[in-house]
Amino acid sequence: MINSNTAIYAILGDPISHSLSPVMHNSAFSHLNYNGVYLAFSAKKIGKAISGIRALGIKGAGITIPHKVAVMEFLDEIDDLAGKIGAVNTIINRQGKITGYNFDSIGAVKAIKEKTGINNKAVAILGAGGAARAVGYGIISEGGRLIILNRTKDKGEKLAADLGSEFCPLEDFKGLKCDILINTTPVGMEPNVDGMPVEKKHLNKGMVVMDIVYNPLKTRLLRVAEDMGCKTIDGVSMFVFQGAGQFELWTGKKAPVDLMRKTVLKALSCSS
Ligand code: NAP
Repeated sequence: MINSNTAIYAILGDPISHSLSPVMHNSAFSHLNYNGVYLAFSAKKIGKAISGIRALGIKGAGITIPHKVAVMEFLDEIDDLAGKIGAVNTIINRQGKITGYNFDSIGAVKAIKEKTGINNKAVAILGAGGAARAVGYGIISEGGRLIILNRTKDKGEKLAADLGSEFCPLEDFKGLKCDILINTTPVGMEPNVDGMPVEKKHLNKGMVVMDIVYNPLKTRLLRVAEDMGCKTIDGVSMFVFQGAGQFELWTGKKAPVDLMRKTVLKALSCSS
């Protein structure tokens, strides 16, 4: 029950109305009888939102599009991993001192490792945005051989240089051989569900194909890959594992991962 001791958590982003973080975290709080509530705030100015977190004693927050990099200058401390990735997706408020973390990277690694190993695998990431940065960092840390493919050359080259990986223009994907293919572009996401970031003829059966887009759960890329006999990894796994990291940081309790996954899948099936 909500009372004057309820710990408040939030997600800060813009747009935010489709976020599944509130339903996922609230179900976990309630499952563990944790006196907390998680709310979504549409935050246009992240600096002001962080001042609000301080002023109101909000205990922690998820940070999402478009604030994952911009938020960093308003925090008191950045955890090592988030500093290396160069983006924050989670903050915690410890008696007024706000520290930034990043769980996107570990979320992606855990989702991949449920299905396949990463060490020494050739991994192609499509996209060079914030998510690609976190996922790419995770791949390199796990000993994967990374190649970044992006539509905008400068942006892709910059990310590849930062991560110490190779770069290839997205249109040159056709001849590329890889063990794991990861889409981090929004191509295929609602409402443009017919989109596919690479053509079917350039996929092959031996690839493990991951899409970090989770709405729809089975993107066209994943459906096509599955039909070809590829192992696939959906975006909900990464989302839930990053959420589990946030939950454990904030509450000090083990996250009920299975329940969080079921809750997100149910919310997705209701919205489709
Ligand atoms: P972002 O920073 O805006 O980056 C988007 C990237 O996708 C850019 O590299 C962009 O290329 C590329 N792109 C966009 N539209 C494209 C198109 N039509 N064709 C080819 N490339 C295109 O976004 P982000 O924060 O990385 O997020 C990307 C996606 O990941 C979103 O759908 C988000 O919901 C999802 N996501 C999922 C999770 C999860 O837990 N499952 C976590 C984070 C994000 P240019 O450089 O050429 O513009």
